[in-house]
This record gives sequence, C-alpha cells and structure tokens, in this order.
Amino acid sequence: MRSARLPVKDRFILPDGMIYLDGNSLGPVPRSVPAAVSRVVEGEWGQHLIKGWNVDAWMAQPMRVGNMLAPLVGAAQNSVTVGDTLSIKVFQALAASLKLRPDRKVILSDSGNFPSDLYMAEGLIDLLRQEYELRIVAPEEVEGAMADDVAVAMITQVDYRTGRMHDMDDVTRAAHGAGTVMLWDLAHSAGAVPVDLAGAGCEFAVGCTYKYLNGGPGAPAFIYVRPDLVASTVPSLSGWLGHDAPFAFEASYRPAADIERFRVGTPPVIQMTALEAALDVWRDIDMADVRAASLHLSEVFIAEVEAKCPELRLVSPREGSNRGSQVSFAFEHGYAAMQALIARDVIGDFRAPDIMRFGFTPLYLDEVDVRRAVDILSEVLRSRLWDEPAYKKTNRVT
Ligand SMILES: *Cc1c(COP(=O)(O)O)cnc(C)c1O
Repeated sequence: MRSARLPVKDRFILPDGMIYLDGNSLGPVPRSVPAAVSRVVEGEWGQHLIKGWNVDAWMAQPMRVGNMLAPLVGAAQNSVTVGDTLSIKVFQALAASLKLRPDRKVILSDSGNFPSDLYMAEGLIDLLRQEYELRIVAPEEVEGAMADDVAVAMITQVDYRTGRMHDMDDVTRAAHGAGTVMLWDLAHSAGAVPVDLAGAGCEFAVGCTYKYLNGGPGAPAFIYVRPDLVASTVPSLSGWLGHDAPFAFEASYRPAADIERFRVGTPPVIQMTALEAALDVWRDIDMADVRAASLHLSEVFIAEVEAKCPELRLVSPREGSNRGSQVSFAFEHGYAAMQALIARDVIGDFRAPDIMRFGFTPLYLDEVDVRRAVDILSEVLRSRLWDEPAYKKTNRVT
C-alpha cells in the first residue's frame, strides 16, 4: 500500500484556528470516531442489548483492537490485548515480571519515569510485604544499574517532561545481559516513534491509547507479552475475563492459554469502539514518515523559539535521535505563559515546576502551524502577558 503524505489533517476534527501541540497528552477526535460510536450506541447497544456481546462481537473487541495496534509497535498478531488503564497494565506487567524472577527482589526504574508507574510499583511492593525494593536511578544510569539482583527494569521510553528517549535495543540488551526482565512503558512512544517490540526482544510492554493514538479521554491501555513467554506468566489481576473459560464459571482461576490472560473484566465497549475507529487513521501511515516529520517540526520549533524567545531554556535533548516527539522549555513563569498561550488558541501544557511542554504530531500539524505558534508565544513573552493575574490561577489539570 502507498503511504499517505503527511499531514492528514482532514482525518481529524480540529477547531478552526487552534494550533494543537498537546496530542502527546490527549489526541484530537479522528473524523471516523463519532459515527462509529453512534453506530455502536444506537445500532448495537440500542437494538441488540445483551445480544451485542455475541452478535456484535463485543467480547472479541480487546483482541481485535490489540491486533490493530500490534503493527504500530512492532508486535506479532495475538501478542497485544487492550483494556483497563495504563496504571493497571503497569501493575499487571510488573507483578508478572516478579513472578518470572522469584529469587530477585529489586524493581529498577529511573527518575524520569511518570509518577503513576512508580506509585504502582510502591503499591505492589507494599502488597508483597516490603520484601522488594524500588531502585530509582538517573535515566543515564539505567544500563549500568542492571544487576543480578534486579528482577525487572520498568522503564518509560520517552520522558513525559523532557522528551528524552531511551534506546530500546541498548537498554533491553543490558537488561538481558544481567538476566533482568525488561518492561517498557510506551505511553509517549506508541504512535509517535517507530517501535519494534519483537526486534527488541523485551518481555513486556504497556502503553496508553489516548495520547498519540487518539483513542479519546480514558481510552483503554494495552499490554504486550512476548509470545514465547505468555504461557509461563502468572496474571496477578485474575479477573474472570482472563480465565480460560469465563462462562464455565469455575470455582477457581485458570488463566487463558494466550494473551487474553491479561484481560481482567468487562471491556469498555463504547470507549473501545472510539479507539478502534481512531486506529483506522493509521491504515496507510508509515511510522518512519511520522518520525521524520516530527523531527523536522521539532527542529523548526526549537530554532524559532531560541531565535525569538530568549527567556526560554531548552530542557529537551538537542539531538533529535535522543528525543521523542515533544519539546520542552523551562521558563520561570511557565504556567502563566502557557495559560496566556492557550487563551490564544495555541495549546500546549505545563509540568511542574517550570516546564512548558509542546507535542508534535505530524498527522495534523505542519510547519506553518509551528511557525505561527512560536510567533504567538513570542508575543506572549514580549507583552509579558504571563504577568496578568488571570493566567496565574492554577487549574486542577495542568
Ligand atoms: C500518561 C501516562 C500514564 C497514565 O496512566 P493512566 O492509568 O492511563 O492514567 C502512566 N504512565 C505513563 C508513563 C504515562 O505517560
């Protein structure tokens, strides 16, 4: 199939005049989504009610959607399933990793990881009566910290604050060299950069679908398990839909033979329908094209900001190959400046303490958008708009 030329803006619903630099946090609505959702609500749920589980194949949706997602992260068919939220999938993958290395008592992660991943590890360790240790090192120390007491390395490939990106092959190789299980979190990778899970050979990967995959707020997460390992993994969240025969209603848990053992409970059919329709956007998109375009847009952005907004300091890696698809700048009045920018329809976000974060999603952004965004940003700074009291009030979600 010929790959589409980017951007493919007409595949998305975007408000007129808005420059959306926050697809790394919540992607916009793909045009295919509203009709799909209303078909399921009105045509399937509305008309078929409970019969929908069979006649509309709702029960098969987690695998079907997992198989649509698999090629986007370099995974084989039937090695990915979809459900729950990313925090839950992190917990599942971590617990299963520890079961694979019962003699080791350390979970390794890095200080660039997203707090929820670390919190889930803390909760799991507490459940395991503190016999385990969460060892957090600086991102650049991860490879060197692989050791024979480390059961699992739980690493998020792209840092949510700075966009710094780990080399998946190198880190996985270091983990395996120490006999450590490798668990990748692809929250800021899936749909943003080319990922080759099968090639990397990692044991587990998890990720969310509402960021670069545009599945919508609260869209379910995904989990990948290396196919040769699935049968020896122990799912700790032993819900009925991960059972080998859910409708036999047996008295005790017996995991499904395949990746479905990482399902937990009833799938969110409507939300998953939105995701399924959203994934259709990728049908003829080559991830290498996305990567090339995102690097180009990011480089234009960095050069323009550095030329026009000297108050801002780049905190993302300057070298594109070390960066995901976002660029962050530190600025003392970053929160208020971002609010002023948002009020002018340039949407980025803010991460404490002082980071202005901008995501580059070449499916619906081009160079004209990026240059215009910087012009508006430089106007916000030149006019000291961040000093207006209205922009200093902190919202619940930043
Ligand atoms: C976005 C993100 C999450 C969010 O988890 P949810 O359970 O989906 O809210 C977790 N981990 C990382 C690394 C993230 O970037």
